[in-house]
Formats: sequence, structure tokens, C-alpha cells
Amino acid sequence: MIQRTIPTWQSISWQEELSSLITDPAELLERLELPESLLESAQKANKLFPLRVTQSYASRIKPGDVDDPLLRQVLPLGAELTSPASYTADPLAEQSFNPAPGVIHKYHGRVLLISASQCAINCRYCFRRHFDYQTNTPSRAEWQEALRYIADNESIDEVILSGGDPLAVSDRQMQWLVNQIAVIPHVTRLRIHTRLPVVLPNRITSELVDTLVKTRLQCVIVVHINHAAEIDEHVHNRLKILKKANITLLNQSVLLKGVNDSASCLVSLSKRLFSCGILPYYLHLLDKVTGAAHFDVDEASAIALHNHLLATLPGYLVPKLVREVPNAASKTAVYGAEHNLGYTNN
Ligand SMILES: *Cc1c(COP(=O)(O)O)cnc(C)c1O
Ligand code: SF4
Repeated sequence: MIQRTIPTWQSISWQEELSSLITDPAELLERLELPESLLESAQKANKLFPLRVTQSYASRIKPGDVDDPLLRQVLPLGAELTSPASYTADPLAEQSFNPAPGVIHKYHGRVLLISASQCAINCRYCFRRHFDYQTNTPSRAEWQEALRYIADNESIDEVILSGGDPLAVSDRQMQWLVNQIAVIPHVTRLRIHTRLPVVLPNRITSELVDTLVKTRLQCVIVVHINHAAEIDEHVHNRLKILKKANITLLNQSVLLKGVNDSASCLVSLSKRLFSCGILPYYLHLLDKVTGAAHFDVDEASAIALHNHLLATLPGYLVPKLVREVPNAASKTAVYGAEHNLGYTNN
């Protein structure tokens, strides 16, 4: 008898992994031993924003637990079908800061490039869940227009790759883009906002690291991790590779009801991040995007949680609590009324 080896997600390439995502709600529910009663609403919500989750991420979800904090980030729910009127399709008004295809220029000195339209997972709370990637993911010719915009604006010294997930493109494309940016003399820093190191850790290839090590640009990777349980051993090891390559690693999280809205959760997250060489950067209040209202944590609770972090952790492990205000010159810090009065612990 011939023994056939069935490939598992641990042994296949990241591209194969990206093409074998779980996209069928029935499959996800079955695999995670979840009640069939969730299926009907999952299918409805799936039509509004499709389910996408990697095998790798799914393997970190506890079977049988409807409240698993990782599951809640990816499972389409009936709650997405109703939204208060204050929740909109473009809560950040990004449309009005779009000077060239794929370019969002809102803040002084840094420009954001929508360099890929795909994500390896669809986070249910994503503020770009209604984003028009069709017109905003540049073709090669349009890239020239985007790059010319940067070249013509000497105030821009940092280019941020965003998406979608900018690392969803091939190593070759990534290398091309990094090289194109590096020839613009006034750009000194390259920042990559990505969730792939966490949801598809095999994406950290030696070719990718090579590109980032060899460029003259200083590289910063901002990962997006909301819960300590997202970092298993494999993710930890891949993140360490980036750290050893001397890439600055930061994390941004979104404060999400039912996922990470407890003090102990946020404290564990900061400590776990630091064990991988990552500093907490931002803790975002939810952007009010249609379909995500059930994730909202009210401002007073958010401030109370943040105060707890300040009173518990060393300063460098406390992320800045921020919200996005459409026409502000930066992310807007959120403080409690007692700010500057000091607080006591114990
Ligand atoms: C968040 C964001 C940035 C980066 O802001 P930092 O405070 O530098 O992290 C840049 N451009 C846009 C459009 C953003 O939304
Ligand atoms: S990885 Fe980021 S851009 Fe992609 S769905 Fe999640 S939050 Fe949205």
C-alpha cells in the first residue's frame, strides 16, 4: 500500500495557504464544533463582508467556544445586519484625502499607500470593510502616478504600506515596490501595516526579510494583534526573525467588546507582545463602520481600562488610546477628565 502524505498547513507555502482559506461559514462552524443555529445569520452576514480566515489562525481558536476572542474577530454574526445610523461606510472620510490612485494623504510627512486589496483574514470590525479596492489598488501604470505624487512632495519622508494587507503580494512585487520607493531621495522610512505575520506567519520568508534588510530605508512593521492568544509559538518564532533583522516592531490593536475589553486581557497582550520584541503603539477606539456596532466599547469604559494599564504596566508597555477624527491632523488621543491629576494604585 502506498502511503500518501497529506500536506498540512504547517508544511505548505504561504501562497498555498493563502489560496486555501476557510471562506464557507458552514465549514468554519463544523470544524470548530459550533452550533448549527449560528449558520443562517452567518451566511447572511457573509454576503455583506465575506468570511475569510487562514487555517493557521483557525487552529488557534478553541473548538466549541462561541465566545472565543479569536473566533469573534472572524465569524460573521447576525448582529452585523443592523447598525445605528451613526455607523457609516466610510467613517474616516478617506475618500476626501485620495490625491492619486491608492494614495491616502492625511497627515503631515507620511503618506499611506493602499498597496494590496486582499487580506488573509477578514476582521469583522474592519473600517475598510466597505472600501472600494477596485478603484484604489493601483495597476503598474497607476503606481507611477502614486510614486510621482510622493516624489513631487518633499515633505513626505515616510511611506506607509497598507491595504488590504500589503504583504499579501509576492516577494518579487514587494521588492519592486520597496525599490521604487527607495529611489525617492526625501523618503527615509518605510512602514508596513500588516496582519499577516500573525494570521499567516509563514509569510515571513527569507526573501521578504532580505528585501527589508537591504533597502536604505529604515523599516518599521506595525502588526495588528488584539489578543495574546493570537501569538502561538510559531507566530512568536517568525516575529523573532523580524526582530533579529533589526526591524522596528510595533503593534496596534482595536478595543473590541467581547474580544479584549478587560484589563487582564490588555495587560497580558502588552506583556506577550514585548516577549516577541514588539512595543504596543496604539489602542484604537472602534471606527463607526456599518456592521460593527456590536464591537463598540464606550469611551468611559475605554478610559477606565487605559487608566488601569497606566497604573499597572511600565510606561513603554502602555499603548496610546486614540480615536480617528476625520479631519484632525493626527490620531486623536483620548483622555479621562482626571488626566494630569495623577492616579494612585494600591
Ligand atoms: C493612521 C494613519 C497614518 C499613520 O499615523 P501615525 O500616527 O503616524 O501612526 C497615516 N496615514 C493615515 C491615512 C492613517 O490613517
Ligand atoms: S487585516 Fe486589517 S485591513 Fe484586513 S480585514 Fe483585518 S483590519 Fe481590515
